Amino acid sequence: MPSYRELLAQAKQHIREVQPADAEARLGEAVFLDVREPDEYEQGALPGSIHIPRGFLEAQIENRVPDRAAPIVVYCAGGNRSAFAAETLQALGYTDVVSMIGGFNRWKDDGRAWSTPRALTPDQRNRYQRHLSMPEVGVEGQLKLLDASVLLIGAGGLGSPAALYLAAAGVGRIGILDMDEVDSSNLQRQILHNEERIGMRKVDSATKTLQALNPDIEVVGYDTRLGADNILDIIDGYDVIVDGADNFPTRYLLNDASLLKRIPVVHGSIFRFDGMVTIFSPYEGPCYRCMVPEPPPAELAPSCAEAGVLGVLPGIIGSIQAVEALKLVLEIGEPLVGRLLVYDALEQSFRELKVNRDPQCPACSDGAEIVIAEYDEHCLPHAVLRDGTEVGTH
Ligand SMILES: [Zn+2]
Repeated sequence: MPSYRELLAQAKQHIREVQPADAEARLGEAVFLDVREPDEYEQGALPGSIHIPRGFLEAQIENRVPDRAAPIVVYCAGGNRSAFAAETLQALGYTDVVSMIGGFNRWKDDGRAWSTPRALTPDQRNRYQRHLSMPEVGVEGQLKLLDASVLLIGAGGLGSPAALYLAAAGVGRIGILDMDEVDSSNLQRQILHNEERIGMRKVDSATKTLQALNPDIEVVGYDTRLGADNILDIIDGYDVIVDGADNFPTRYLLNDASLLKRIPVVHGSIFRFDGMVTIFSPYEGPCYRCMVPEPPPAELAPSCAEAGVLGVLPGIIGSIQAVEALKLVLEIGEPLVGRLLVYDALEQSFRELKVNRDPQCPACSDGAEIVIAEYDEHCLPHAVLRDGTEVGTH
């Protein structure tokens, strides 16, 4: 049975070691991988390093460093755990791995640059535990969420589930815009509000609900109508917009302003038993005007107050919007850009339609000039896509 010393000597024979000075020369080009325990890492680490405790190395490395040819400098506190880690990485197929002699302690003692990584508080570690245990999110992803800001247009059917889940997930700043007050007819689907809030401004009711769910985040209310005069100021600085608007003028206005500010919009709409979700990613995918070039004529449409919606439907569509917003912030997965996800509650089915960018689009094509202007107050429940699919509203 080999002793620890013998095992270590064996590991060191199988790997390459570099002095801190040589490692320093590779800053910016190689991945610096810290394999110490979380409490050691939190005291200080090499700038820009990624952290996977030795015990999680095999489970997490493929997600964090998918490229097996990537140059990796592994370090620990003194250079021994990193030797074992380097050997493991080689066994997993990583081809360009070195272990740093003397580890973080020597690096620091030599006066080289280091910093204290941002960490979650014990309360946050507990609250977001289920995120932290997923390597695709982890501490880094949770910090991204806490740093992120998402603006919700509407505190109604779609805004309710989206806001609740985004707040619970720890999106650090949630803006919520609505100009109405809570009415008992809202409660069939708008789960941010409740019986006691009838008559209260929706923005105030939403803020109260979200802060009670997660006091760790900031909620900013905009008790106003979105118009040409205020939209650019309101959306400025947000990372993602979740659109739960129920009318065409707002959608067109939001589209144009978000193109100008280059903010992705997670669009959702519902009508009766049907819903749809897509993302308009400025100049990367189609915009709302590419998909719905013009609103349908008013005479074809009953007023939107008459259009019904199944109570649960906004919960499904708004939750999908929240998922897409989180993915955009975390930069994971395949966003619904150029893809329209259509849900039919009666059939209980999803289907996906492709949405293309229109080279002649008046808003997002080359040379198009965007003018932020007020549109007529239409209230139209239907539009028809170029392929004949109906677009709902509520
Ligand atoms: Zn367009």
